[in-house]
Amino acid sequence: MIRVIPELCTGCGLCIPACPLGVVELISNVAVIKEGCNICSICVSICPGEAIEIEDKKEKRKNGNKGVWVFIEQEDGKIKNVGIELLGCARRLASQLNTNVTALVLGENVDDNLGDFFIARGADSVFIISSPYLSYYSTLYSRVLADIVKEKKPEIILIGGTAIGRSLAPRLAASLKTGLTADCTELLIEDGEFIQIRPAFGGNIMAEIVTRTLPKIATVRSKVMKPLKPQERKGEIIRITPNLSEDDIWEKRKVLKKEVLFGRNIEDAEIIVSCGRGIRDPKNISLIKELADLLGGAVGASRAVVDTGWMTHPHQIGQTGKTVCPKLYIACGISGAIQHIVGMKSSDTIVAINKDPHAPIFDVATYGIVGDLFEIVPLMIKKIREY
Ligand SMILES: Cc1cc2nc3c(=O)[nH]c(=O)nc-3n(C[C@H](O)[C@H](O)[C@H](O)COP(=O)(O)OP(=O)(O)OC[C@H]3O[C@@H](n4cnc5c(N)ncnc54)[C@H](O)[C@@H]3O)c2cc1C
Repeated sequence: MIRVIPELCTGCGLCIPACPLGVVELISNVAVIKEGCNICSICVSICPGEAIEIEDKKEKRKNGNKGVWVFIEQEDGKIKNVGIELLGCARRLASQLNTNVTALVLGENVDDNLGDFFIARGADSVFIISSPYLSYYSTLYSRVLADIVKEKKPEIILIGGTAIGRSLAPRLAASLKTGLTADCTELLIEDGEFIQIRPAFGGNIMAEIVTRTLPKIATVRSKVMKPLKPQERKGEIIRITPNLSEDDIWEKRKVLKKEVLFGRNIEDAEIIVSCGRGIRDPKNISLIKELADLLGGAVGASRAVVDTGWMTHPHQIGQTGKTVCPKLYIACGISGAIQHIVGMKSSDTIVAINKDPHAPIFDVATYGIVGDLFEIVPLMIKKIREY
């Protein structure tokens, strides 16, 4: 139970903006906690007069969110090891919190045998969330997961600190209006509290972070936690079919899946033709692909293009995508944000096409073409065909 001690409340109102759920208000100059409070206790820590108290710390868990969830990254049945490592960690945390471990697997046609594999490695239950739209990672993952989290209310969610995890975790945290601690090196339960440890201030200190909002989301890099040895364990496999709307963007995504996803892998390509938001519409990506195909290269993308769902994450280049080092990198309609540059600046030759002469991409370009990509790219295609 959380309660306000009216005699101690000065009516300062600091707790009102601090409440992430907006369930605190002042009535007759005294704070009142309305229905919907998840006892995150931010108001308790912010109150200068110590006028808000949680009567029983353990009560918080009894009434609130329960369970430790682990997002398992997989593609075509191939599992990223970090998911298994996190299951081992989740098992330890769950035993201390006297709760259950749930593994979350998103994909298309995920085999039930995978569920048994996760149960043997620490899960009590496995949610297999299946849809043709989930066959590869996209921003849709966070939308689908957020809906399930809101319904089932876990206390802790662990996600691998991979390129996909780094894209998924902040999106999920933002849509759930909760906190995220990235790249934890240790996760503990102390006095019933989930403590997330990670380096801070350039690694000079190890910070112990406590998230007050629920669920508490943490990412952990690969090889930080130890996986459990497989054991004979019983658990349940629950299949969930997300309710996805057939709006335009997903229809486009389906087309793109055929057109673009089956292109070359950007990591191995010697030539990459990349597009940014300047491409304006997903149907124009065929122009970029035409140039890439002619040059025997692959199609890359900025995050802006991936975020809108026009291309898929395996094509994203940059800080939260892939780092590439081709012989030739052609950037079409990409502004050159630092997060993109870090993923492609080592390319041998960089050609940038942008209609803005001040675009930062020109700072790293070997050759810069100031102009409209819809005029320049067709010209390049024409010239290469003539050659
Ligand atoms: C934590 C974090 C991680 C990130 N990770 C990445 C990452 O991995 N990869 C990444 O790319 N970004 C990443 N970003 C996003 C990054 O900051 C930029 O927002 C993004 O790169 C912008 O993409 P863009 O250049 O396609 O779009 P914009 O910045 O909108 O640029 C579009 C460009 O197209 C040009 N243009 C428009 N029309 C035409 C035309 N007809 N012909 C020619 N040029 C045209 C415009 O002049 C403009 O320069 C990250 C951001 C954060 C905060």
